[in-house]
Amino acid sequence: MSKHLTNTQAMRYNRQIVLPRIDLDGQEALLNANVCVVGIGGLGTAASNNLCASGVGKLTLIDSDNVDVTNLPRQTLFSESDVGMTKVAAAKARLTDINSNCEINGIEAHFSECHENEIANADIVLDCTDNADSRDLINRLCFKYRTPLVSGSAIRFEGQLFVAIPGKSRCYGCLRQLFEAPELSCVEAGIFSPVVNIVGTYQAMLAMQVLMHFDDIPLNTLMIFDGLRHDWQHWQLPDSLSCSLCQA
Ligand SMILES: [Zn+2]
Repeated sequence: MSKHLTNTQAMRYNRQIVLPRIDLDGQEALLNANVCVVGIGGLGTAASNNLCASGVGKLTLIDSDNVDVTNLPRQTLFSESDVGMTKVAAAKARLTDINSNCEINGIEAHFSECHENEIANADIVLDCTDNADSRDLINRLCFKYRTPLVSGSAIRFEGQLFVAIPGKSRCYGCLRQLFEAPELSCVEAGIFSPVVNIVGTYQAMLAMQVLMHFDDIPLNTLMIFDGLRHDWQHWQLPDSLSCSLCQA
């Protein structure tokens, strides 16, 4: 059964509710949503912070890492006292502090086939991981369970975003086949802290817009943010592309 906003919640989220594109219906869509965030690094912390504060009812967080001191410059959900804790436990404590209305389901594990149920039960998934294997698996499971996916990545001064809605758009695999070269990690290539926060925050924005049924989500489109030139570019996937998953 779907939940309704209490008067206290309606007051709390008033600045969003007054937006005609959101209104009470949009805010209640967020309240009733379960968003699965895979990877609680730079992207995942920025995204979950925004989702939780904005009034998403439930977050499922999946990550196997512990907070390291080198995470602190960009993973601003964490503080020095969290170093050594699991990211999931530290994020859960901090997010509950930010918004006790948000139910946090923390899973301390490396994302794998075992998390099929979490993908199936989510209203939308945010891919905030940093490796190709996880990205492919997340895409495959999202396609299988028809769960919308917002994929984000960031390296150096550049960020990328892609939204896939099964049945309505091409999948993330369509994009991946065009970029087969092995990706360098942020450890090797470096990352400018604000860039990863911008991309994670943008993932949260897109996810909430999908949940609220906004009809102008950029589909079949790679969005590229350039933090040196200060611009966003949109690159449309060619129609001719074949894909063993979504075009099968
Ligand atoms: Zn595809």
